[in-house]
Amino acid sequence: GNALGKLTRLGTITDQYQRTLAALGRVQALNDLPVESGADLPHLPTQRVKGEIELRKVTFAYPGRQATLRSTSLAIAAGRTTGIVGPTGAGKSTIAKLLMRFRHADQGQVLLDGVDVRDLGLSDLRHAIGYVTQEPFLFDSTIAENIRYGTFHATDAQLIAAAHTAGAHSFIADLPAGYDTLVGERGAALSGGQKQRIALARTILRDPPIVILDEATSAVDNETEASIQRALQVFGSNRTMIVIAHRLATVRGADRIYVLGDSGLVTEHGTHEELLALGGTYTNLWTLQAGQQVSA
Ligand code: ADP
Repeated sequence: GNALGKLTRLGTITDQYQRTLAALGRVQALNDLPVESGADLPHLPTQRVKGEIELRKVTFAYPGRQATLRSTSLAIAAGRTTGIVGPTGAGKSTIAKLLMRFRHADQGQVLLDGVDVRDLGLSDLRHAIGYVTQEPFLFDSTIAENIRYGTFHATDAQLIAAAHTAGAHSFIADLPAGYDTLVGERGAALSGGQKQRIALARTILRDPPIVILDEATSAVDNETEASIQRALQVFGSNRTMIVIAHRLATVRGADRIYVLGDSGLVTEHGTHEELLALGGTYTNLWTLQAGQQVSA
């Protein structure tokens, strides 16, 4: 090439170099932002999380509201399944939000493995916890991609195993396009119970050391839920599981069940059998719900 051509190319390269530098600068500027308080706190590797959780006299009120939790204390053992039941509005989901630091306690402490959650890196904390809600968010994409969200490297075999555990595989396999079925905007093409099972499969595949099921199977029929619970036993055997539910059958097999009353007050706790022996609120609710099932 001639001298002019060389100069032009050099000009282009310089131009690209300048643009790259500018772009890097922008990325750097983003990195320098204080994205979230606590992001620079000690690293908490997921594999080292034991999963022991404690609420120590936690008081919390949403802005402008009366206290949702008033001096609530409860202990969630590492590696065990803990049920939390109680009426709507008792503060069950709020406990999950405090643990994940979507909200902060006004008084008292929320501890993970003995450390105040405020002293843990936020992304580490959230990475350690799988939170499955009643109304999960699905992307306008395929079922497979929705389950793989967060675990993109998973193999097909792992994907299918997770769907099995979540009680989702059989309905997915019955769909004409199977795992390639498009779920529609926010999962509109699926029923509530199907969306819940896909969200559950997503968390099972991600395999975090702590899992919170917050009314996560509330839209699934009793029989399917019972089979999901059996399948979840193995999954739950080596992690901390918190199961929040209305339906007492959902928490029946838990190692410990907390019964919350107003303002997050723990009124009773124990295993299903222990609570039935107490003959209190839990027993009354159990009798009521068993009656509803028989008449249903
Ligand atoms: P539960 O899970 O036991 O049904 P929640 O923890 O969801 O109870 O809610 C406890 C109380 O806090 C309820 O009275 C609820 O209306 C209120 N609450 C929940 N979320 C918010 C919010 N974002 N803003 C204001 N009040 C809220």
